[in-house]
Amino acid sequence: MPHTLPQLIDGQWLQSQATDLIEVTDPATQEVIALAPKATAEEIEAAVASAQKAFLAWREVPVSERARLMLRYQHLLKEHHDELAEILAQETGKTFADAKGDVWRGIEVAEHAANIASLMMGETVENVAREIDTASWIQPLGVCVGITPFNFPAMIPLWMFPLAIACGNTFILKPSEQDPLTPNRLAELFIEAGAPAGVLQVLHGGREQVDALLVHPAVRAISFVGSVNVGQHVYRTGTQHLKRVQAFAGAKNHMVIMPDAPKDQVISNLLGASCGAAGQRCMAISVAVFVGESKQWIDELAEQMATLRPGHWQDSGAAYGPLISPQARQRVLHLIEQGKAEGAECLLDGSQCTVEGYPHGNWVGPTLFRGVTTEMGLYREEIFGPVLVCMQVDTLEEAIELVNASPYGNGTSLFTRSGGAARHFQHAIEVGQVGINVPIPVPLPFFSFTGWKGSFYGDLHAYGKQAVRFYTETKTVTSRWFDDTPLEAGPNMTIQLK
Ligand code: NAD
Repeated sequence: MPHTLPQLIDGQWLQSQATDLIEVTDPATQEVIALAPKATAEEIEAAVASAQKAFLAWREVPVSERARLMLRYQHLLKEHHDELAEILAQETGKTFADAKGDVWRGIEVAEHAANIASLMMGETVENVAREIDTASWIQPLGVCVGITPFNFPAMIPLWMFPLAIACGNTFILKPSEQDPLTPNRLAELFIEAGAPAGVLQVLHGGREQVDALLVHPAVRAISFVGSVNVGQHVYRTGTQHLKRVQAFAGAKNHMVIMPDAPKDQVISNLLGASCGAAGQRCMAISVAVFVGESKQWIDELAEQMATLRPGHWQDSGAAYGPLISPQARQRVLHLIEQGKAEGAECLLDGSQCTVEGYPHGNWVGPTLFRGVTTEMGLYREEIFGPVLVCMQVDTLEEAIELVNASPYGNGTSLFTRSGGAARHFQHAIEVGQVGINVPIPVPLPFFSFTGWKGSFYGDLHAYGKQAVRFYTETKTVTSRWFDDTPLEAGPNMTIQLK
């Protein structure tokens, strides 16, 4: 029997009383590797109450001690890097190298959270009026909640709780029910690093558990990462209940290819950016926009893409793994069929893909379309699979118009040798993260993750300085001190304003 995952409530790993359990499967085999409970209403109450209580003590812990917790955590995460990547690879199907990358991008955020003291510096102005000073202090909010998707079960929880907690908040994590083993292990290591009871709680479940947290009066802020529909629901419900919400949602990222770009770089970068992690990345490139004569490279792209093969995470030759679930695979296969029916030219069709030894895996082979138009489902929907669609335009201006007309705005990139074209593109493009000859421009944690338009609902983005603003409130103190000893009368200068 697979084990049922415990939940972290008030510093204890407890078995849930829930009878409703979710199967967590290995996507390469469909073997059930664990069961995740759907937290009961009482367990949610207990976690929130514990987080509220822990906040009162945690916010008084000096900032340098909170920073040291993050240093110890970063060290432990590095020590357990391979072990975390193995857990992650088994439950997501990601290749081992990719799984290590997922963990590493999270470690970098924990590292950044160790700098919390300098990130929480306020502002001061002396003598705003005679002998009166004003200072702004940055203070934590209270109980914060994180709701995370399946596709980065280490990186995305780590985008959230280390910074929120370093700021002095307490945090309730509700990870994806599809791969909750990695988040549980992340939380165990956080406790091992010395996190006091109640500072971090982990609850499992799906929609009902999220909805209960979204409306809970004690929750001050909600960080969400996931699909567009759920992101809109989380943003609407959370803000309607007067909470601070940041919701990172779906995407459709374009790479624009100028004819002066280095062809080999373009092709090799397109392969990784479209098929890496089986295309299940919110920053994956799913549309290649060929400008002018660069369209002649599409046949060579198809040849090279055909050499990519998915495989089991322990197969070091595999380019990527299976999709997360049979439902996700069915959805992608449906979009491929729809694309063919709508008249797109399918240069490479991965829908019949099999992998020897793993007949039940959620495999989809690399798939490439040409002649795609903006009306087709292939273009409008976020596919979230190893499927790349090619479009052709005559000028950079047309490419910019195409990208700007997309409802999404997570990431985009331009490949060119022209500084002028790059300067114009980065200025005119209405997308929050731009790569110049960099296919997937995910910023490091000292910047922020800044998706735009339908890829993000909220004001302040993930990690970096923006997350510190998101997880804190500014208090502005104006002060004047009376002294019994008369001051040596200084020059009492009056400025005459004209
Ligand atoms: P999802 O929206 O299905 O699930 C995300 C979280 O929401 C999970 O914890 C899930 O339990 C919960 N949830 C699901 N349905 C819900 C509902 N009806 N009401 C309340 N909560 C619900 O997303 P997913 O399939 O796990 O992740 C893939 C999606 O996430 C893709 O669309 C991808 O683009 C997006 N994503 C975006 C970013 C970004 O930074 N913009 C990063 C990673 C992933």
